[in-house]
Parts: sequence; C-alpha cells; structure tokens
Amino acid sequence: MAQHHDTTRPTALADRDDAVPSYMTDERLMIQQAARDFAMKEVLPTANRLDPQNGEIPMALRDKMAELGLFGILIPQEYGGLGLGCFEYCLVAEELSRGWMSVASIMARGNGAGNGFTPEQKRKYLPRMASGEYLGAFALSEPNAGSDVANLSCRARRDGEHWVINGSKMWCTFADGADYLTVMARTDPDVDPKARHKGISAFHIPKERGTLPPGVQGTPVNKIGYRGWKTFELAFDNCRVPADALIGEEGNAFYTVMGKLEVARAHTAARAIGLARGALEDAIRYAHERVQFGKPIGEFQAIRFKIADMATEIEAARQLMYHVCTEIDSGRRCDKESSMVKLLASEMAERVTSEALQIHGGAGYTTDFAVERYWRDARLTKIFEGTSEIQKRIISDRLLGAAKS
Ligand SMILES: Cc1cc2nc3c(=O)[nH]c(=O)nc-3n(C[C@H](O)[C@H](O)[C@H](O)COP(=O)(O)OP(=O)(O)OC[C@H]3O[C@@H](n4cnc5c(N)ncnc54)[C@H](O)[C@@H]3O)c2cc1C
Repeated sequence: MAQHHDTTRPTALADRDDAVPSYMTDERLMIQQAARDFAMKEVLPTANRLDPQNGEIPMALRDKMAELGLFGILIPQEYGGLGLGCFEYCLVAEELSRGWMSVASIMARGNGAGNGFTPEQKRKYLPRMASGEYLGAFALSEPNAGSDVANLSCRARRDGEHWVINGSKMWCTFADGADYLTVMARTDPDVDPKARHKGISAFHIPKERGTLPPGVQGTPVNKIGYRGWKTFELAFDNCRVPADALIGEEGNAFYTVMGKLEVARAHTAARAIGLARGALEDAIRYAHERVQFGKPIGEFQAIRFKIADMATEIEAARQLMYHVCTEIDSGRRCDKESSMVKLLASEMAERVTSEALQIHGGAGYTTDFAVERYWRDARLTKIFEGTSEIQKRIISDRLLGAAKS
C-alpha cells in the first residue's frame, strides 16, 4: 500500500460549478479559491507528511499564510489587517481545515486575539498580529475548570507595579511556539459564589518564541490528534508581569471572552465542515478506485447512499454556518445560533469522517490514508470551544429559561 495516496487531485466536489448563490460575491469567491489553492497545494501535502510523524507546522507554511494575509482577516485595515468579516474568515477556515485542522486553528492565533485591548494595546499589538509575526496562545482552562470555566482558581495578585500569577492551567495549545500568552486569572477571590464569573481578569504576557515566560513550567499533553503543535499543562509559580499586562478592565475578562465566542464557535463549525469535506472527497475517490466483486465499490447502493447522506449533512451544516456568519457580520446577537452550528457541524463531522473511514474498509484503519486524521481531528471538535453538551445547555437555556438545578 502506498504511503498516503495522492489526495491532492481535485474532485468534482472541489470544483463545484453549480450556480453560484448570490451571497457568494466575486470577492468571496476569489478569497475561497485562493484559500482552496493554498490548502490543496501546500497545507494538505504538509499534513500528509508531518501528521503521521507528529511533526510541527513548519515556519515556511506560516510565512506563506502571513503573505496571504490570513492572520489579519478580521483585523481592521487601519491596523494592517484585511478588515473582512466572519463570513470570509470561515470560508478560509473551511478550506484550511480540509487540508489540516491545526492550520485552520493557528490562523485564529492572530485574528481573534485583539478583543478587550485598549486603543494603545491595539496600536501596539494588532499590526504585528495581522502580519503573523506575533501569534498567541490562550490559557483559560484549568484542571478543575473545563466546561465550568468560571470555577477557575489561577490567581493574580497586585504587587506594586506588577501582577504575580500563581496556579495551574490545562490544555494550553501552542504555549511554546506562541509569541505571547493570554492568561485568565482570578483577581478578586472574594466574589459572591453565585457570581463566580466576576473578578476574573485577562493578562497579555509577551515571551520569546520557543520558550515559556519566567515563572512558568510546561508539560506537553499526549494527544491522539490535533497534531502540528503541542498542547501544555502549565504551572505558574510566582510569574511576575508588569501592571500594564492587564487586558481591558480588571475583573471583567469573562464578559470579554464570552463576547468573542460567537466568532470562535462559527470558526469551529468551519473547521468541522472542512474536515468532513476532506473525508468525503477522499471517500468518493476511494469508492471509484476500490474494486470488489468485480466492480468499484462506488457501484454498490450501500456506498452510494452513504456518500449522498454525507454530502447532504455537510451542505446543511455549511448553510447554517453561512447564516450564522451573516448574522455575526450584521452585528445581531446570535449566541444561540452559533451554539447550534457548533453543535450540528461537530456532531456531523464525527459521523461523516467515521463513514468515510468505513468506506475505506481496512485501509481506513491505517495511517496510509488521510481519512484517519480527519476522523481523529473531527472527534475534538465536539470537545473544545465548549462541548456538545454545553452547546445543548446554552440552546435549551435560551429556549426554556435557565434550568433551576
Ligand atoms: C486538544 C485540546 C486542545 C485544547 N486547547 C485549549 C487551549 O488552547 N486553551 C484552553 O484554555 N483550553 C483548551 N482546551 C480545553 C477545552 O476547551 C476543554 O477540554 C473543554 O472546554 C472541556 O473541558 P474539560 O475537558 O475539562 O471537560 P469537563 O468539563 O470535565 O467535561 C466532562 C464531560 O462532562 C460534560 N459536562 C460538563 N458539565 C456539564 C453540564 N453542566 N451539563 C452536561 N454535561 C456536562 C462535558 O460535556 C463532558 O462530556 C483544549 C482541549 C483539548 C482536548
């Protein structure tokens, strides 16, 4: 069996020539095509080569992403970004994820990071983020604060002209490779237990790429997917940062972060859709090539109907994503809908990638075909950026009112 079949050739799906819907403006089609070309020519071959050996996203690939402006899609033009919307951002994310989800994720380490900045912090950091030279890692989750993020206990104390941070963080992806950490810590421990989301602040901690800040130790987590970068457990032991590391207003970071979640959830949906599309395209190719009982397996109705179901599910999730992106870009509240699309797309991606693996038979259960990567990575989309259960909680709370217990 050849090491990684050539999955980079376009299929009928990649070359969709269906009538173009009106929301796909010329500019959007151009952005989508540029991202697709980059994903198929550069990202996918890199993923096929490096993911099986647990290699890291190469600097050269990041440089090309920077040249394309991908780290500044959402950053206003006055700060050197492209000043585009969530729609364009998610179009690109789907394409990148079709190649390698981690690359679609690293894009967010420039784009989303400016929230809560003062005007001075924006002038200082956003242009460098937009150019891709200044990418971040986000330390919110803790060993005892996952879904229940308001339970975080990492503590920041004011000491003269400094803040001193102590405590543990879990799951900090890219902590080593990033140029700065955004750390959420409790600055007011005496808040009412019923209002635990108050008294939490965010800190911007610049650092040298490839290292951790003084006072921080990191241990990599052994993940089953989401390769291309490392995810860390971090221990903060008297990590001292200057007073101006505080992002925005003291004690209000929970709201700042929550305000950014709609975009993050649409982006996660886009990543899930990209993975599912990659798996579908590979399954179609394999269904044409693999012969059993004297004919390509794509002749069997069992396989044909799987393909039909997979394509239908992907398109349904994509259309909801387009709707959510349009709502976000119009400035309308859509926390319920962004939870819906995150839930729908990630559950869909797990099913579709699993069916694609099934269509590959035993070959799907090897590392010779990319479909196992799509399957492993799709599994994560149901967990991060809020689990499926948490999305259902948000949706049902909006429909029924918050549950009493
Ligand atoms: C590979 C990877 C990378 C990550 N990267 C980052 C990162 O860069 N930065 C960061 O801050 N975090 C990161 N995370 C953390 C991620 O956001 C959390 O894993 C996620 O929020 C879930 O938290 P948890 O793992 O503690 O699960 P838990 O909260 O312990 O959940 C366990 C189970 O209980 C369920 N559950 C919990 N509460 C409820 C409830 N109220 N109702 C119903 N069911 C419930 C959950 O849905 C889940 O099924 C990453 C995680 C992974 C796996």
